[in-house]
Formats: sequence, C-alpha cells, structure tokens
Amino acid sequence: MRACIIRGTGSLDRIEVADVPDAPSGAALDPGHVRVAVRAAALNHLDLFVVHGLPGDYHFPHILGADGAGVVEATGHGVSAVKPGDRVMINPGISDYTCEYCRAGEHSLCVNYRLLGEHLPGTLAGSVVVPDRNLAVLPTLAPPLTWAEAAAFSLVTLTAWRMVVTRAAVRAGETVLVWGSGGGVSLACLRIAKLRGARVIVTSSQDAKLVEARRHGADVTLNHRTQKVSREVRALTAGRGADVVVDHVGEATWEESLRLLAKGGRLVTCGATTGPKVVTDLRRVFWNQYTILGSTMGNAAEYAEIVRQLGTGALRPIVDRVYPLAEARAAFERLERGEQLGKIVVQVAE
Ligand SMILES: [Zn+2]
Repeated sequence: MRACIIRGTGSLDRIEVADVPDAPSGAALDPGHVRVAVRAAALNHLDLFVVHGLPGDYHFPHILGADGAGVVEATGHGVSAVKPGDRVMINPGISDYTCEYCRAGEHSLCVNYRLLGEHLPGTLAGSVVVPDRNLAVLPTLAPPLTWAEAAAFSLVTLTAWRMVVTRAAVRAGETVLVWGSGGGVSLACLRIAKLRGARVIVTSSQDAKLVEARRHGADVTLNHRTQKVSREVRALTAGRGADVVVDHVGEATWEESLRLLAKGGRLVTCGATTGPKVVTDLRRVFWNQYTILGSTMGNAAEYAEIVRQLGTGALRPIVDRVYPLAEARAAFERLERGEQLGKIVVQVAE
C-alpha cells in the first residue's frame, strides 16, 4: 500500500510517499481489531515532533499520521460495534483497558498509552488497524461530513474537550484566554469554551487568524506580537484577570499566562510547541492560589461525548486545506510554517 513514511528522523526532507507492506487483514487481524481503508488523514503538531525525533523506539519505515477517517474493510474476532462498509472516525489514543487507570475510566493515563503515528503505524496509509473501541461511526449531518472533516475531528477536539470541560471545568460567565489561534486545538478550545458559556479572549500573531477567531465566536481578540497580553487582559477584566488560560505554547507564553490569571485561576496545558522548559515564579502560584493542570488526549467517555456533540451539529471541524497523498510533505511544511486556519488534511484515497 502507499503510505507517507520516514526512514529516519530529522527535517521534513525525511518525509516520503512510498510503497510499504500492507496492513494485516483476514486471519492476521488480532481479536477486537479492525482494518480501516483510510480516506483522509489530518495533521497535528505531534506529527512534526515524530518526524523531528521523539524518545522511544521507531520501527522504520515508520508510517506517519494520528488522525484519520475511512471505511471499515475487515473485522477481527469478537468485533460487533462496527461492520465492513461502516464509515468511521478514529480516536488515535490506544489504551490497554487493563491497567489501574483504564479500569478507573482514565484511558489517556494508561501506563501503556500509545498513539497512532507515534508508537504505532499511522493513518497516512491505504489502511490502518485499530481496536474497535477506537472507532466511531460518522454521525449523520446536513450537509454530510466530508472525509476531510471527519479526519480532522478526533485528536484536537478530544484534547480540547478534556482541557476545557474536564480539567479546567470552565463555567458559564468565566473569562478564558486561549493562546495562538489558528491551530486546531486553539480553535476547538475557543468553540468548546463558548459552548460552556464563557467569555473567550483569543490571541494570534496574525490578524487574519483573529478575524477567523471572531467568526467562530471569540469575544475579544489580541495580537500577541503587537500587544502585551497580560496588560490587555487586566484592562478587559477591570484589573481582575482571566479565570482560565489554555496554554499549549509553552516557553513563549508561560510567564504571561501566569501574569494574566485572576486569583484562584487555572492554567491548563496540553503541549509546548515553542519548548517545554518554562520559568515559574512560585510566589505568583501560591499567593494567588493558582491551579496548574496537565491534560493529554481524553478518555472513552469524553470521546463518546464529543462524537455526540458533533451529531448535534456543534464542533464541526474547520478544515484549512486538503492535499493529495503524493503532496503530503507540502502539507507538513504548511503546518511547520504555522500558516493554517484550522486543520490541514491529506486525502489518502478518493
Ligand atoms: Zn491502561
């Protein structure tokens, strides 16, 4: 099958589209597993980190891609949730369902947690094999979800839902600041915080992305290249500060995140796209009684909930641009340049 692969880590020049051995099928499928013919796969920052090199063992050639959607081709023994021909979206987080965290329903804390495209063969390929628990049948919407939209849904929406709803527990009337609009996680956090009834302030370094954020419900937008965000947030809240800050940027924003929070505020982080080593003035944390919340992906109940929300017409993914598989490297380059408004998608098959 054709796949977007790397044979070693490094720059994006490592990315190639090549023939690789077919994914398992028929009797070779493990019990509880499903082979999905991928129609579209969406890119995430995770995929850039995988190309540049993450700790852990790679098995080259490594197939990239965490997010995907397609048609069920074959099912292993014991699969009843889906059948061949079903149109499905894939939750890229694979849990063992046996460790203490899984037994408690916290599947993204699994001691054996693995992600498609990082620890396992990814979705940028003709077919991918996943546990049936990781599939959701596409909800019926009008107009129908495109394959690109379906592929763009899972990772960022799940990540954002857990951050905003479960971890930060955003309530109606609270003020939430979301850094760096334009990427999938930020846009999803904005829309979910609006669903919760919050007042949402969004930042970007690009005015075009701020226009887009207002179109998706942002109450206030700030250009973090030309404006001092903490000062603006204080001014917008009569000196009080924001209740919640959503930070997936890391080094470039962390100190400002702590400066713009109200007393008792919560900072929730799911990533560090500008680097992980931040400076924290602990006096600010204890005196103001801040809560710092880590968050990664989400559990099965949260995934079911976001799929249900999608079925109501909420949280429909925002697609930036769709590339054919042969041009997958150009898609990665657009993501690395940070030019996107929404999700960058690769169409794997018609
Ligand atoms: Zn587990």
